[in-house]
Amino acid sequence: MIGESRDGASIADARRSFATSWAVTVAGTSFVGWGFRELAEYLLGLTNRLVDLMQSAEADPATAHALGADLVAVHFTAPETLSRSLAVLGEGLPALVADPRPPDLAQRLARAIGALAGGYATALRDRTLEEQDEIRRAMVVASRESEQKLAASEARFRAMFTEAAIGIGIGDLEGNILEVNASLRRMFGYTAEEFHRRNVIDMVHPLDATSIWDAYKRLIAGQDDHFRVEKRFYRADGEVIWTHLAVSLVRGESGEPAYQVAMLQDITERHRLQCDLEHLAYHDPLTGLPNRAVLSERLAEVFANPAEDRRIALCFVDLDGFKAVNDSLGHDVGDQLLVAVAARLAGCCRPGHLVGRMGGDEFVVLLQDPTTEDEAVAVAEDILSALEAPIRLGDHEVIVTASIGIVEQPVAATSPADLMSAADITLYWAKGAGRNRYALFERVRTEKEIARFTLASAMQAAIERGEFFVDYQPLVALSDGRMLGVEALVRWRHPTYGDLPPDQFIGLAEETGAIVPLGRWVLSTACWQARRWRDQFGDVAPFVSVNLAPRQLQEDMLLSDVSAILDQTGLETDQLQFELTEIAVMRDEVGALRTLSTLDKMGVRIAIDDFGTGYSNLSYLRQLPVHVLKLDRSFVEGLTGSDGADPHDELIVSTLITLAHALELTVTAEGIETHAQLERLRSMGCDAGQGWFLARPCTPEDITALLSRGD
Ligand code: C2E
Ligand code: MG
Ligand code: MG
Repeated sequence: MIGESRDGASIADARRSFATSWAVTVAGTSFVGWGFRELAEYLLGLTNRLVDLMQSAEADPATAHALGADLVAVHFTAPETLSRSLAVLGEGLPALVADPRPPDLAQRLARAIGALAGGYATALRDRTLEEQDEIRRAMVVASRESEQKLAASEARFRAMFTEAAIGIGIGDLEGNILEVNASLRRMFGYTAEEFHRRNVIDMVHPLDATSIWDAYKRLIAGQDDHFRVEKRFYRADGEVIWTHLAVSLVRGESGEPAYQVAMLQDITERHRLQCDLEHLAYHDPLTGLPNRAVLSERLAEVFANPAEDRRIALCFVDLDGFKAVNDSLGHDVGDQLLVAVAARLAGCCRPGHLVGRMGGDEFVVLLQDPTTEDEAVAVAEDILSALEAPIRLGDHEVIVTASIGIVEQPVAATSPADLMSAADITLYWAKGAGRNRYALFERVRTEKEIARFTLASAMQAAIERGEFFVDYQPLVALSDGRMLGVEALVRWRHPTYGDLPPDQFIGLAEETGAIVPLGRWVLSTACWQARRWRDQFGDVAPFVSVNLAPRQLQEDMLLSDVSAILDQTGLETDQLQFELTEIAVMRDEVGALRTLSTLDKMGVRIAIDDFGTGYSNLSYLRQLPVHVLKLDRSFVEGLTGSDGADPHDELIVSTLITLAHALELTVTAEGIETHAQLERLRSMGCDAGQGWFLARPCTPEDITALLSRGD
């Protein structure tokens, strides 16, 4: 509790000091009539709202939009205030978000900043329009009022004209500029005389939309009384300024067009900012490549017009082993590598191809209307060979490869979402086939895979919903039949598919990474169960043997998870055993050795599972802190008793047992299904056994019942 309130206080402090530095940055940029303290207080309020927004699951951009409007409402109207604020927010806001940070924090931030700037721009435009309207109303009144009132209303219009912050110019119907106010002169850098020498037509910019000048013609012709546009102009010094331009027609007494009045608000700064933001919204800041949003928009365009013969192709590129580069050489080098890869990818594309970064180490090349599938294959081949040459990054030379999934389909036969998921699946085939290669999408193969993928993606939620459960299978001493331990075997009570055995989802969970949270859950469940048996049965309680998947062994959190769970459950370390296969160990020998040694020092036992199916390298295993060998079921199958036994299996098993004992390992035989097998193993001196003949995997309650009976 104390820790929590201190955390709460330090979060509040961090937000306050952020708001203060924000106030320092923007103080004086706009006229807000506040003291510094009030300003900092106001910005603290905004900071809190923004941080809450970053943290909330919905992260609704409408809130940030409203905050932008709020800035305008309190008269933070100078563009500089906005641009400085955005810089401060972009830099400082992420650090204010408390743990656990949302994984998509960067996107949330970009979205919030974009929405804030959008809200600001809209509010500011509305304000300008209101201001222009007010002047227009005064002008209309001035031109329409009857004779006697004319003088007064003209005086009012004059005052507005001279003092207005926005530029105002009055011209005749031929376009001659008759009068300009001071603001307009400042905006354009022309003197009144220079203006008088010009015609409205001279104010054309080569990139003006034709609609602007159409609207102008209609106004002069008296067909319209008013139009508003965003238009750019050249200043006297040749620079371009952007304006909100409102032009109104002033009619004579009998209603005939007489004059035109133009009102201009300089929005150059805001326009520049908007362009920067647009660039930001559509480009990956690291590599400068178009981002996911561009790809989505491009796909939406293509799919909006699914003509029958239109085709689309996509290469989905993912670097192999990028995480290792990041972990070993640091994130800065990782970033440089991504930049270098992005440049090489961009070099492989032809006009009309779109290369984008999807995030992390994932890139995409989109081919609109490819001639054949070969065009996409050629791009993929180019990418693979472009990556062959080592990439020099400071003092390091890195070789990086990529896997690529290629999908090429008629537009009418798919959708953006299906296209992306097909590319994703195909990429994963390329990875599975050994990386550094491309794979081509095949529909038949996909249908099965989609089912698997659906299962995989449902796994995380299933853990939270409690759909997994653990059965326990006794590990029995062959000398006296005592239950030494139990192996924890996970199952999935799937709401549609019923109870699924582990081989239908463990491999998948390993591939997707879901094995990490699932494994943690199994470990914790098994340890709590072991603790309950310990409380109930004391010394005769079984230890629990928990399977560790290769990925879990490589997971940094494993050791801290294990000690946390042991702490929470209060289970003695010798009541826990881990089972892992040789393959898991070989995958990262150095890391595995380190992890296993730590577990060994903690007092946790290690068993090698399914021994005999992997490398079966006993002398190698000797170097590892391993305590138990679990002999694979396939050897035990050959031991059918004295008759009909496979002499090779007999020999192998007895040799393995002897060797294992010489290395001070105990041996547990798996898959004992018959009495004969049990007897053979016992006579060979095998220490322990597991199998249907002894006991099937069963519920914890069944194990409790067995223990109560003293079996
Ligand atoms: P395993 O670790 O080798 O577990 C033993 C498997 O053999 C279990 O299958 C068990 O039901 C089965 N078995 C036991 N006795 C006999 C027998 O006499 N004959 C035959 N034919 N089979 C027998 P299960 O429960 O389907 O588990 C399959 C594999 O799934 C396990 O093999 C293990 O590699 C994996 N697994 C199970 N639970 C977990 C877990 O929590 N985490 C991880 N990473 N893997 C798990
Ligand atoms: Mg096992
Ligand atoms: Mg096994």
